[in-house]
Amino acid sequence: MMTALTLVAHNEVALAKHRIPEPGPRDAVVRTTASMMCSSDVHTLGGAMAVPVGRILGHESVGVVHRVGDAVSLVQEGQRVASSAITPCGRCEFCQKGSQQCHGSVGGYKYTAQMEGTLAEYFLVPDADLNLAVIPEDLSDEEALYATDSLSTGLAAAEQASIPLGGTVAIFAQGAVGLAATMGARLLGAGMIVTTATRPYNCKLSRHYGSDLVLNPHREDAVERIREILGEHGADSAIEALGTHETFEQCVRATKAHGTVVNAGYHGWQSTAALPIPMVSFGYGMGGKQIRSVLCPGGSERLSRLFTLMLNKRIDPTMMTTHRFGFDDAAKAFGMLASKSDGIIKPLLTF
Ligand SMILES: [Zn+2]
Ligand SMILES: [Zn+2]
Repeated sequence: MMTALTLVAHNEVALAKHRIPEPGPRDAVVRTTASMMCSSDVHTLGGAMAVPVGRILGHESVGVVHRVGDAVSLVQEGQRVASSAITPCGRCEFCQKGSQQCHGSVGGYKYTAQMEGTLAEYFLVPDADLNLAVIPEDLSDEEALYATDSLSTGLAAAEQASIPLGGTVAIFAQGAVGLAATMGARLLGAGMIVTTATRPYNCKLSRHYGSDLVLNPHREDAVERIREILGEHGADSAIEALGTHETFEQCVRATKAHGTVVNAGYHGWQSTAALPIPMVSFGYGMGGKQIRSVLCPGGSERLSRLFTLMLNKRIDPTMMTTHRFGFDDAAKAFGMLASKSDGIIKPLLTF
């Protein structure tokens, strides 16, 4: 038997006992050495998806391969590995088109949403040859964990934002994903990065990771200030990294005609009402603005490239680790993340 952070009642999590999973032919079972928690879990449990009571939470874990299925050929027992939060099958229509939307909308999001999650002493990885990457010796578990979701998702937002070299980008919110988008915008050659943040440490990190100017949306109208600073037409690109109707609408208003808006935030904590698109800023439907949404990219090739970025010190996401816990305190860590208390950004759990 093993211990896992489990949904034990509606909106209530606790450590509970489960059977150690058995791998199917294409699966691997990993013995966990470290995990991170993510506000996606809070949104998912908050009602965004129907998660049954008894389900294990989490999708950001690394560890050592414990067992592999008969059809697994690239991954071996004893290897130190990371699994992306998103685990596509690689075979369905959507995967073959190069999308993360395995079997349909958000379908690559399997841990917790469709199967047991990874906040457990052992976790099962589907399609292990595709979804597990070996962690290089010089990379810590903590660094590798960032590649599994928050870093990857934030960088994907910047990659999808079509930021012209030397161009301008506005990034709304600087939680883990927004901060990673800021790193990505700098890596991709943005000429000026404007971000919004409220908590002092997030403002400091935002500057550290590449923001030229951090606006406080509680004290000023961020869109007005962006137009004052970047010119009346706004930014070339905008990234939504919070998951609220307000920040989405601000992104559309802050972007130039023909610009790109990328939604990276998980709209799981408001209503399922349609997102507002301000019609004048959208050029009455003819302004040429692109609106894209991103999901964390899956697969080992992506993980390996992010490992290379960290190994060669292009980026260091570990300053986002604000809290450290043993796995025994997982429920306490989850509660802190849900209430966003004590300036928490990313909690690291070790086993
Ligand atoms: Zn996550
Ligand atoms: Zn698929």
